[in-house]
Amino acid sequence: MARAVKKSWDTGLIDIGHDCYAYIQSGGLNVSNAGLIVGPDSCLVIDTLYVKPMTQAFQRSIAKVTKKPVGQIVCTHHHADHTLGLNYFPRHIPIIAHRYMRERMIETGLDLAHYRRVNPEHARHLRGLKQHLPTQTYDGAMVLYLGKRRVELHNLGHTHSKGDTMVYLPKEKILYSGDFCFNFVTPATFDAHIGNWIKQARLVLKTFPLKTVVPGHGPVSDRRVLEDMADYLSLVQRGARKQFKAGTPAKRAAKEIKLGVYADWMKPDRVEQAVMKLYNEFRGKADKGISLDAAKGG
Ligand SMILES: [Zn+2]
Repeated sequence: MARAVKKSWDTGLIDIGHDCYAYIQSGGLNVSNAGLIVGPDSCLVIDTLYVKPMTQAFQRSIAKVTKKPVGQIVCTHHHADHTLGLNYFPRHIPIIAHRYMRERMIETGLDLAHYRRVNPEHARHLRGLKQHLPTQTYDGAMVLYLGKRRVELHNLGHTHSKGDTMVYLPKEKILYSGDFCFNFVTPATFDAHIGNWIKQARLVLKTFPLKTVVPGHGPVSDRRVLEDMADYLSLVQRGARKQFKAGTPAKRAAKEIKLGVYADWMKPDRVEQAVMKLYNEFRGKADKGISLDAAKGG
């Protein structure tokens, strides 16, 4: 049973306990979240947001809760709304990500003109920026220790993107999911493998004890955000399969799918990119992307 839809939330740093924080942003396209874990000597930052005013507001919030320096940055995936903020952190800080995330960054490059087109309101901040690649990569899973605290990095194959990392704190039962979870925002799927994403979301629900989930977009939640993600993606997958078998073109198929309560999530028209991706998956071409301009962001 899907939850009642929340239409708005505030921007700011939220204390989720155990010296862990979620930095949540409200708003539209390319407005993402980040995380902060305070360790005994230094902090771990999870994702760095998009344009300078966003990243600097996050950094000012960090300075209000700790004097400890940022010691490491984990990137959950390569999308610009999570990684362009790396431009505003000192270069000596290690950047940790999955191997495929680094590869995808190199493969996709950085088309700032595209981001100026889709976010004209931020155009002056989308000039002269560089791609800062991860300095440390892992395969499968990796464990970091902040003092005695265990911080697990998990990659579950191709889900929201090829090279997603979820940051999981097993003792605290906190999950920083990156864009594996969108909360009350329709997921961006232009880089996704939706079939695998649904399977892995169900697996996480079964195998990860969860108290708090910090999604990549939208407010802080708990395991129910994962249930909704799996249900939304399954609903679209079922609808798309039916239309695919009937030979309906993808764009028209997207209009035929009844989204129910999910039509109230932000950006419901993203169902179109999901159907386009699913058609590729049904044709056995899951790796085939759709154009960045069709996708716009996320
Ligand atoms: Zn993303």
